[in-house]
Amino acid sequence: MFIDLSEVTQRLRRMSSEELDVSGSYQSFLLDLICEGKDTLVVDQVSVWLFDDISNPKKLINVANTQWDNDLNAEDYPVLLCEEYPNYFKAISTGVSINATDAHSDPRTAEFRDTYLISNNITTMLDATIFKNGIPHGVVCCEGRGPLREWQSAEIAYAEMVADCCSRRLLVSELWTLQQQMTKLAFHDALTGLKNRRYLMDSGHREIRRHIRAGEQLSVVMLDIDHFKRINDSYGHEIGDVVLKAFAQCCQGTLRAEDCLCRLGGEEFIVLLPNTPTEGAREVAERLRISVEKNIIETAHHHIQVTVSCGVAQVNLAKPFSYSLKQVDHAIYDAKAQGRNCVVCC
Ligand code: GH3
Ligand code: MG
Ligand code: MG
Repeated sequence: MFIDLSEVTQRLRRMSSEELDVSGSYQSFLLDLICEGKDTLVVDQVSVWLFDDISNPKKLINVANTQWDNDLNAEDYPVLLCEEYPNYFKAISTGVSINATDAHSDPRTAEFRDTYLISNNITTMLDATIFKNGIPHGVVCCEGRGPLREWQSAEIAYAEMVADCCSRRLLVSELWTLQQQMTKLAFHDALTGLKNRRYLMDSGHREIRRHIRAGEQLSVVMLDIDHFKRINDSYGHEIGDVVLKAFAQCCQGTLRAEDCLCRLGGEEFIVLLPNTPTEGAREVAERLRISVEKNIIETAHHHIQVTVSCGVAQVNLAKPFSYSLKQVDHAIYDAKAQGRNCVVCC
């Protein structure tokens, strides 16, 4: 078969340069490439297989396939094990494409004869390695059912280009995942898993704008654990951390899904209460105070009880968010002065 490399490679390169949503499954962002490969090479199916562990390449996982009608769940992906197909794995590890004219007799693919080739009428195979950091990461596998086929160098080069395009997409998807993780880290507190101060400040400004538009009231509650220093001093910093986590969980369990609980820092927390006037916020704060007081935190050797002081304010929508934070901070100061374990409204 003759393929005009300059035409088909240009089409593939243009296609692989397009911006793509890589947040979904492998199939969702590799399918167009392998379908293009299938049509151009005139084969019956093209699939993508990736090593589960690139530093110990003993298992290949089939992550995309032109034959799949529906996207498979990751746990249903077909796998190939090195112990069952040692010659095939050895061939892939060299990085050289497998151009098996007769897949039944080629030593690199003959291992599939009884388990796969005969039952699926596959006669000929062309496999191109997907690289990552210069080492094999997987393979693009092109299979034909027709008459035996001598793979032309242009066809091999084209299959390798499909593999390179897959490799680029896989890299983009990895970067996307990393970016998601970074965003999560940037806006979450590592100890409690709650949103952090950065998120609170962003969200505070956003919520103010939203509440002005909707003509609704927004309230804020500050929570400061009482005598928390004593917990660290009595039980150690690690137990202090356990108490902070348990405190966060207890508060979270008391709030509505739309209320936003953030760790401001140390043993200080903030709850943003959308569509809530002061009186409603005072009730929420009182509920939180009681839940915390009742929540006995059990560690390996201790049963620990903490109390919390709460400051409540209705957010002044005409002022920057930091203004309302200062208000609740003053309310906390008053709550501490009044003997702690109480709620003070501005
Ligand atoms: P008050 O009732 O007046 O609020 O007293 P307090 O002891 O709670 O307040 P203070 O500000 O004196 O102490 C807060 C303590 O919280 C001091 C600090 O070491 C501790 N702390 C801050 N962040 C963490 C943390 O991430 N883990 C642990 N274990 N302790 C923390
Ligand atoms: Mg404090
Ligand atoms: Mg405190």
